[in-house]
Amino acid sequence: MRIALRDDDTCYFTSPADLERVYSGIWQRIPVCLATVPFAVGYPRAGIPESEWHSGRRFPLEQNPALVAWLRENIPARRVTIALHGYTHEDYPDGFEFQAAPDLDRRIADGRAYLERLLGTPIRVFVPPHNALSKRGLDAVSRAGLNVLGSFLSFRPANRPFDAHALSNWWRIQQFRRATGRDRAAPLVYPHPLRYRRHAEFGCHGLIPSTTLEQLTAGLDEARRFGGDFCLATHYWEVDERLKNILMRFFDYAEKIPNVRFVAADELFDREDDS
Ligand SMILES: [Zn+2]
Repeated sequence: MRIALRDDDTCYFTSPADLERVYSGIWQRIPVCLATVPFAVGYPRAGIPESEWHSGRRFPLEQNPALVAWLRENIPARRVTIALHGYTHEDYPDGFEFQAAPDLDRRIADGRAYLERLLGTPIRVFVPPHNALSKRGLDAVSRAGLNVLGSFLSFRPANRPFDAHALSNWWRIQQFRRATGRDRAAPLVYPHPLRYRRHAEFGCHGLIPSTTLEQLTAGLDEARRFGGDFCLATHYWEVDERLKNILMRFFDYAEKIPNVRFVAADELFDREDDS
């Protein structure tokens, strides 16, 4: 079983100390996939100065040289890996960035090339801002050949761009629903990568202020029962002492599972050839 860890919203507004506060003691055990915003625009949340909440200004990551130096040191050390998390992460009146922004193909191509050049690492994974992807957004990500780490994306073929694999993947989800006794509306995280024509998708379990350790271990046990993998997703800026404690205890629990491997998030998409 493979277990990975994803953290969202590293950007110009992030300091190395923010990440060290949450992940020291953790990234020695498991690499953290930092879903990074290349040209962040401010919005109302902890850690972004109020003066930038509505300014609409774009901040290239390189304008935070302390963070860039820190990332360049910790990527080769395998403490962190990088995924693309939108382009500006800005919200539009009619949706989130990868539902409503124009020129999504350009945002992906430019954002990816920028981070690859600045940080010296290849990028193969996309994390949609707010976990929201429209049909057009998914089409752009798929065309770029990036794998998607998300939560609660729709698998219904009608909500997706045309893809020869959409129907068989939808069918897999239905079978999983039945096997776990879920009704049509119950949320689920499917514990295997779903492969489409140009990309694959994997769902994450969220760690947010209302999450309990028991919810996470139940999700992990379910994934294991189905021979699957597991990815935990959180935001460093909302991890307080209580959440950090859950995080540590979750990995203590996971570590005791036989044959478990803590992997970088990119590896969730590799084909396992255990036979
Ligand atoms: Zn985000």
